[in-house]
Amino acid sequence: MITYKHEPFTDFSKEENKQAFQAGLKVVEQYLGKEYPLVIGGEKVTTTEKIVSINPANKKEVVGRVSKANQELAERAMDSALQAFESWKRVKPEVRADVLFKAAAIIRRRKHEFSALLVKEAGKPWNEADADTVEGIDFMEYYGRQMLEHKNGKKVESRPGEYNRYTYIPLGVGIVISPWNFAFAIMAGTTVAALVSGNTVLLKPASTTPVVAAKFVEVMEEAGLPKGVLNYIPGSGAEIGDILVDHPKTRFISFTGSREVGTRIYERAAIVNKGQIWLKRVIAEMGGKDTIVVDKEADLELAAQSIVRSAFGFSGQKCSACSRAIVVEDVYDQVLNRAVELTKKLTIGDPVEPNNFMGPVNDQQAYDKIMAYIEIGKTEGQLMVGGEGDDTEGFFIQPTIFAGLDPNARIMQEEIFGPVVAFAKAKDFQTALEIANNTEYGLTGSVITNNRMHLEQAREDFHVGNLYFNRGCTGAIVGYQPFGGFNMSGTDSKAGGPDYLLLHMQAKTTSEML
Ligand code: GLU
Repeated sequence: MITYKHEPFTDFSKEENKQAFQAGLKVVEQYLGKEYPLVIGGEKVTTTEKIVSINPANKKEVVGRVSKANQELAERAMDSALQAFESWKRVKPEVRADVLFKAAAIIRRRKHEFSALLVKEAGKPWNEADADTVEGIDFMEYYGRQMLEHKNGKKVESRPGEYNRYTYIPLGVGIVISPWNFAFAIMAGTTVAALVSGNTVLLKPASTTPVVAAKFVEVMEEAGLPKGVLNYIPGSGAEIGDILVDHPKTRFISFTGSREVGTRIYERAAIVNKGQIWLKRVIAEMGGKDTIVVDKEADLELAAQSIVRSAFGFSGQKCSACSRAIVVEDVYDQVLNRAVELTKKLTIGDPVEPNNFMGPVNDQQAYDKIMAYIEIGKTEGQLMVGGEGDDTEGFFIQPTIFAGLDPNARIMQEEIFGPVVAFAKAKDFQTALEIANNTEYGLTGSVITNNRMHLEQAREDFHVGNLYFNRGCTGAIVGYQPFGGFNMSGTDSKAGGPDYLLLHMQAKTTSEML
């Protein structure tokens, strides 16, 4: 087995790569508007009610029409998954890992097609779409290998005349509720982690990006996943979300999304319902209010570049995105002015055009929410650049910088999930760190400084799950920077890390007298 190495990103300055991506777009264009059934127990189930997935850059373009699960179908999917669990849990870990390696190979061959689909369905610019697909491949390759590491359990001691073993067994049926912002990577990553650990899955993808999930389910079938092990049941949160979370046979829930929904799931999952004989586990990756701290002894160009890239990459729609820049007063004006200058140069438009740095935001709801926060920002701080939106054809919002914020202002505290970054001044590095820690979240953060002592101080005191030095705060790589946050950012599950699969298994001790 080749040791794990992350999949390289595509270099779009090369003409041949540009052409390969264009070819991917052509493939996707041929299947735009098609219909996709649910997959329950390997059976394709078509419903009359549909979820219509549209292109957020061009509202008139339908990406696909997906069947929509209701309560009865969700129950049926649960029965299939329960039945499939009885055999899947006995399939050797090596064989389960092989399914992931095969799926990774298939996706790798169709990489640009998947990325092109993300351009259309999620509004991702080429490089962001490429990174999303690549990360999905990484999850498959990494978790496959991780399962091979865990398959014999861990070493425990034995006394004379006794033989003790400590092994891991799967949990049961897991509900995977995945987000639209990493519509491929997180959807596929959370699903395959559960599967390779020996569980069966009911996958409820985000309602704005169900087509890429349907394509993934097809790939998993092609890679050899037995029927019923992975069930594809898009549906509304209100209609089937609670039912699945509350179900007495649900063993765990793996959720990525908003704090509001995550907290609700966590609360509901704590209730032991009739017929339930276990305590459910919840893996929850929720929001962030992520900060880049800039010290006075710092590379100020690097600081401005890092803020702009981390704030506006994929229009700030990452839970890791920089939404606050806390700059020590000596260099505040310089960093702010340079960030504004860089932001003015950013291009925004339909992401099918490779030259556009930013595409649209996810949907009308996201657009309205972000625009409302921009209005709040205007009352709380000084608008430096951006602030405008246009939702006539797609959901476009200009990259927006506010300056002079009070650390407790709403736009300094609440997650906006859009292309908005707020600047605040700190009198020294210590104060900057204190402000950085003043939210309810704790996902990512960066420190830009050349002062070694300050880096060490941040290493100890900056309370975030992913802390970066002298770089931006987005773009964690599977197997290199395990990802997950503290406090209201979630259960710090560390996706893409060495402990992640263990969250999907339970340990069993056997002790034999010799
Ligand atoms: N893992 C991604 C990153 O490091 C963010 C994931 C998310 O936004 O949910 O940027």
